[in-house]
Amino acid sequence: MSAHLAIDADTPPPSVADDGVWLRCIECGADHPPFDAVIYRCPDCDGLLEARYNHLPTFADFDGTGVWRYAEALPVDGGVSINEGATPLYEVPRLTDELGLEEVLVKHEGMNPTGSFKDRGMTVGVEIAARLGVERLACASTGNTSAALAAYGARAGLEVLVLLPAGKVAAGKLAQAALHGARILELDGNFDACLDVVADLAAADEVYLLNSINPFRLEGQKTIGLEILEVFDERYGGVPDRIVLPVGNAGNTSALYKCFRELVAAGELDPDDVPALTGVQATGAAPLVEAIDAGHDTVTRWAEVETIATAIRIGNPVNAAKALPGIRETGGTAIAVSDEGITAAQGALAREGIGVEPASAASVAGLRALRNKGVVDADERVVCLTTGHLLKDPDAAAAAGTDPEPVAATTDAVRSLLAD
Ligand SMILES: *Cc1c(COP(=O)(O)O)cnc(C)c1O
Ligand SMILES: [Zn+2]
Repeated sequence: MSAHLAIDADTPPPSVADDGVWLRCIECGADHPPFDAVIYRCPDCDGLLEARYNHLPTFADFDGTGVWRYAEALPVDGGVSINEGATPLYEVPRLTDELGLEEVLVKHEGMNPTGSFKDRGMTVGVEIAARLGVERLACASTGNTSAALAAYGARAGLEVLVLLPAGKVAAGKLAQAALHGARILELDGNFDACLDVVADLAAADEVYLLNSINPFRLEGQKTIGLEILEVFDERYGGVPDRIVLPVGNAGNTSALYKCFRELVAAGELDPDDVPALTGVQATGAAPLVEAIDAGHDTVTRWAEVETIATAIRIGNPVNAAKALPGIRETGGTAIAVSDEGITAAQGALAREGIGVEPASAASVAGLRALRNKGVVDADERVVCLTTGHLLKDPDAAAAAGTDPEPVAATTDAVRSLLAD
């Protein structure tokens, strides 16, 4: 097992642990108390933090359904919940045939309460915020984080502030943030600029930050991996060879990697069986793919980003330092796909009855591209993550779908149109 995959199951809890949980810097290894001061990065070296536990769970510990089935793997035993998780793992027989693979499955995270996987992180992160006693929650967002935070903040009775790139947020997501009562600021800049601003506010303790730099949010997102492994083994036996997912800030990639490392450390997953994490970005916003291709340990921020997949229109993935080793150490890869490829994949999923927003379809577009390049073998069993629901971006769906045909409101008129 490589160094990066190692998590010490039996490290005695450091004095900083609270309820068996603490935060460890991934760069310098310093341990910090989890709930004393509000920190998002290592106070010593500015590195990313991850939650550590003095107890690693086994599958036998899990009970119930949804995210909180996995409470034993989470920093708190219950959260601000609206029944997130337990999303379907769909078979897609036509896509499987067309791609010439042993098995392709779609884990549809659009089936979460607010329509994206962000709910899994928020049920944990907003709970922690409530326990910390903060008053105002905030995030920068391409849309789905703001929708989820608005809903979970409302549920917790806390004030929510969201910073969005003006004109670049899909209609469904904006409507959700609005109705759940968030204060919505539209900034004249892209997502990365919004995150810079909200991170400044958080550093000054003016808001509690719930972007994916928040290590507790990623703990909730680990449950995607736990669900996939449990359901896959039960239905098909064994472990999927590969998990393909869209990459924006690379929070999910990091969360899945952490899920696998903990399972390996707990003796629940053979290190040789860890699924290959395969990240997909749009060609107009592909800094992480660039870093993987170049063999770099850090990403270079892209100042200009553009893609129809607005949820991954991100030039500076904040979790790159966690995700790059995750992709490499699991034998995965990263690939960029065109907007045309994304729209085609969205249509292919729709023809199987699965409605997703454009960013979600990037996973399937990426799998197709990797299959064409011969990177993915025919005997692989692959899970594609679809991150958000079709109704998030109704404009993109309408543009990609069939056009309505105006017709007079009589049976004859309809019949003659159908006869054409
Ligand atoms: C947030 C989001 C992503 C990007 O996820 P990361 O964890 O930031 O890489 C992808 N797709 C959708 C629909 C999202 O909402
Ligand atoms: Zn550090």
